[in-house]
Amino acid sequence: PATAPFLSVRDLEGWYDESHVLHGVDFDVNAGEVVTLLGRNGAGKTTTLRAIMGTLAKRRGSVRFNGRELIDLPPRAIARAGIAFCPEERGIFSSLSVEENLMLPPTVSQGGLSREDVLAMFPNLKERLSSQGTKLSGGEQQMLAIARILRTGAKFLLLDEPTEGLAPVIVQQIGRTLSELKSRGFTIVLVEQNFRFAASIADRHYVVEQGRVIDMIPNEELEANIGKLHAYLGV
Ligand code: ATP
Repeated sequence: PATAPFLSVRDLEGWYDESHVLHGVDFDVNAGEVVTLLGRNGAGKTTTLRAIMGTLAKRRGSVRFNGRELIDLPPRAIARAGIAFCPEERGIFSSLSVEENLMLPPTVSQGGLSREDVLAMFPNLKERLSSQGTKLSGGEQQMLAIARILRTGAKFLLLDEPTEGLAPVIVQQIGRTLSELKSRGFTIVLVEQNFRFAASIADRHYVVEQGRVIDMIPNEELEANIGKLHAYLGV
């Protein structure tokens, strides 16, 4: 029998106060996959991640993860269930040093990577252990943000535009990191504007438009669908 998806999102709706922005998002993520959420600015990609993580207060529908319904749980319980969220603004403590940031993972469950493990993965950070968060480059901040969520023990990662504003060489480095995480069995949902980056690491792409998922494109069919995708994204 087919195994259930690791994450199954059904008819997910979400609001900011009275403003209804998610209108029934549906998608699945299988264990070990990297999937992207693509779409225009304001389509609802970030809000979808926030609704899954529970940080969007007003939400409805179904988020089944690893056999459990999460829709009514608070963010802390969702984190404990094994999901980690790396927001676009990165969620590091800028007044603390790299070392301190690595010592204060947001929520700990079993199986988090050790300090040594994450430093082996991000050798740049090793040189900057005593530097304050604000003194780091954008790339170093992003690496620290990912290192922090790997410390939590979550095996399911929600990453919001990790490459935004970074130089191409750093983008490549982040790509290698995500590929390594995939090969280690992590499952990743990635909101991404950088199309070529998305194509270089993802298995499948979901297209979000006006608070709904309107299409799914397997990565191997991306080239053949490039015209359609440009129309979706307005590029
Ligand atoms: P972007 O790439 O611009 O972040 P997105 O697809 O992630 O795009 P969302 O950030 O999820 O889009 O936004 C979806 C809708 O919700 C947009 O209309 C946006 O203006 C609105 N929105 C986002 N954040 C808030 C907020 N904090 N309060 C009110 N409305 C918001």
